[in-house]
Amino acid sequence: MKSPRIAFFDTKPYDRKFFDAAGKKFGFPVTYFEEHLGPGTTALTRGFDTVCIFVNDVVNADVIKALHRNGVRLIALRASGYNNVDFRAAFGKIHVVRVPAYSPHAVAEHAVALMLALNRKTHRAYHRTRDNNFSIQGLLGFDMFGKTAGVIGTGAIGRELIRILKGFGMHVLAYDPGPDEAFAAEAGFSYTDLKTLYKKSDVISLHCPLTRQTYRMINAKTIQTMKTGVMIVNTGRGKLIDTRALIEALKNKKVGYAGLDVYEEENEYFFEDFSSDVISDDVLARLLTFPNVLVTAHQGFFTQEALTNIARTTLQNIDDFVRGRLLTHEICYRCSRKVCVKKTKGKCF
Ligand code: NAD
Repeated sequence: MKSPRIAFFDTKPYDRKFFDAAGKKFGFPVTYFEEHLGPGTTALTRGFDTVCIFVNDVVNADVIKALHRNGVRLIALRASGYNNVDFRAAFGKIHVVRVPAYSPHAVAEHAVALMLALNRKTHRAYHRTRDNNFSIQGLLGFDMFGKTAGVIGTGAIGRELIRILKGFGMHVLAYDPGPDEAFAAEAGFSYTDLKTLYKKSDVISLHCPLTRQTYRMINAKTIQTMKTGVMIVNTGRGKLIDTRALIEALKNKKVGYAGLDVYEEENEYFFEDFSSDVISDDVLARLLTFPNVLVTAHQGFFTQEALTNIARTTLQNIDDFVRGRLLTHEICYRCSRKVCVKKTKGKCF
C-alpha cells in the first residue's frame, strides 16, 4: 500500500495537535498549510494525492479542475457540512469524503449556550460585574420552561438539541423534509410545516444543511410571519439567513435576539484575529453593535471530543480510500441524486 500524500489546508495549532495524536495509529505524513484552499492556492497541491479541508476552504469547479490536474484524487473534509465543495464537478474525477457526526452534542450544546446567554444576558452581566456594576436593571430574561422551540432540521444535531430542550420543559415543533415520526413519539415533540413553526415558536434554531432550498430561508418575508420578539439561533450555515433582513428586523424589534455561530460572509473573518484591525464588512460590524446579538466565530464544533473524533474519522476515511475499501462517508453526486443509492455507494467511479 502506498502511503497517501496529504496536504492539510487552513491549519490552526489545535488541528495539528489532534491530527498528530490521531495520526500515530495511521502513520501518514501530513503537510500542514496555514493557507485556505481556493482558486489562488491550488499550486500548493502539486505532488499531493489527498487534500484535507475545512468549512471555509473554497472548492468550486475551477479548483476541482486544478486539483485533478495536479494529481489529487481525494478531498477529505474534516467537517460534516459540504456546501463549500462542488461535488457535482468532482464526480468522476475526485472522491469527496466527510465526517458526518463527530459530536452532535458539541453543536447542540453550543446552540443552547447561545440561547441561555441571550435570554439571561450573561454576556452583558459578565462585563457589568467586572466593572463593579451589580445592577440587574435591563437583564430581565424569560423561563425557557413552557416556551415553544422550533427546530429546523432533525438530523444528528437537531435531535440532540430537541433532547436538551425537552429537558427544560419546552414544547418543541420541528420541520424536516424527512421526518422521523418514531423519534418524535419517543422524544415527545411534533413535526409541522415551516409556516406553523415560524408562527408559533418563541425560539427558532437552524440545523439543516445549506442547499438551494435552504439558502436564505430566514428572510424579510419569513421573519414577518414570526412572533414579535422571537429568538433566532443559527449554528448551521451563515447563508441560511439573509443577514441584512435580520438586521432590519432587529432594528424594528420584530426579532428580539439573534445567536449566530455562523455568518454569510464569515470566510474572511472567522477563525482569525482582527482585534488590532478595522472590520471593513459593514454588515458584520452592525451585527456586533446590538446588545441582543451574540456572535461566536463558528465554534460550535470546538470541543475536545469533537476534535478527537474529527481527526480519527478523517484519517480513517483516507485509510479506507488508500486501501480501496467502501467509502462509507463519501459525498457522491450520483448517490445524492438517488440514482444508485446504497448498492454502489463509494464505488460509483
Ligand atoms: P445531518 O445531515 O445529520 O442533519 C441535517 C438534517 O437536515 C437532515 O435530517 C435533513 O433531512 C434535514 N434537512 C435537509 N433539508 C432540509 C430543509 N430544507 N429544511 C429542513 N431540514 C432539512 O446534519 P447535522 O450533523 O445535524 O448538521 C446540520 C448542519 O449543521 C450541517 O449541515 C452543518 O451545516 C452545520 N454544522 C455546524 C457546525 C458548527 O460548528 N457550527 C458543526 C457541524 C455542523
